[in-house]
Amino acid sequence: MELIDGKLISAQVKAELQAEVEKIAASGGKIPHLAAVLVGDNGASETYVASKIKSCEQIGFKSTLVRRDASTSEAEVLEIINQLNNDPDVDGFIVQLPLPDHINVDHVIEAIDPKKDVDGFHPINIGRMAKGLPAYISATPFGVLELIKRYNIETAGKHCVVVGRSQIVGLPMSILMQRNTYPGNCTVTLAHSKTQNLKEVCKSADILVAALGKPEFITADMVKDGAVVIDVGLTRVVDTTKKSGFALKGDVKFDEVSAKTSYITPVPGGVGLMTVAALMYNTLLASKKEIYK
Ligand code: NAP
Repeated sequence: MELIDGKLISAQVKAELQAEVEKIAASGGKIPHLAAVLVGDNGASETYVASKIKSCEQIGFKSTLVRRDASTSEAEVLEIINQLNNDPDVDGFIVQLPLPDHINVDHVIEAIDPKKDVDGFHPINIGRMAKGLPAYISATPFGVLELIKRYNIETAGKHCVVVGRSQIVGLPMSILMQRNTYPGNCTVTLAHSKTQNLKEVCKSADILVAALGKPEFITADMVKDGAVVIDVGLTRVVDTTKKSGFALKGDVKFDEVSAKTSYITPVPGGVGLMTVAALMYNTLLASKKEIYK
């Protein structure tokens, strides 16, 4: 079993981005600028946004945080988006999800200019990705692809089972793994809560991507010997031994599954760190106008 080290790879990606920003700065070019919109006071969202802003600082990107309280109306959020769409200094921006219940997430995502949609959530970016056209790829699946690439994991002809069909993780992951490229060329099964015989389906996977948000759901009896296991899950569970009062758990029961695998991502220290690195990469692409010329 080889551990896929998200900490190491994300640090490598960030160092590469930092070197690129130094070159841009030295030649008098525009420093990439990421903005983040955070509405409400969801503890996990605050942590995620803080780590995105911190990564911008580490790499040398400019960042802006737009914070509003939970009572902010949908119209006000749409106005913030309008301003960011029209701000020539902002290369890309994200609206941290989830949003308070009274705000329609589709209205918000569709209001973002696809050219600045560095989270890759806009239907135009999802559609372009599905067609194999240049697009911002949703940061979590993008981070997973980068891990697979940097560990030279073979994907062609393999059976990839993705558990979870969310628009931001499972669905794009399944589309990306079937593309006629590397990583890709897998035979893909997209499983969800209505899938029958989930255990057998998972057991037939050469590459198993768990993205269902159920801590330690994937047990050893669901995993084929020698499989590659990618754990996207990230759930806060109460842990009184921790200073924060919680621990982060993946969707895979790591202790019993890891011994059966050829490669596995730990939680924490796996996919989560790559998500931020991938977002930074998308921001650089945005500032260089690489996706939309
Ligand atoms: P989500 O929107 O809640 O979607 C969960 C998916 O899992 C749904 O498609 C659901 O099926 C499926 N599912 C739920 N219970 C299941 C079961 N018992 N058997 C089979 N499928 C089941 O979740 P998400 O936003 O994709 O997030 C998934 C996990 O990834 C969460 O733990 C989240 O925190 C984590 N995450 C991590 C990162 C990162 O950076 N590492 C980024 C994003 C998300 P139905 O469609 O049938 O309901």
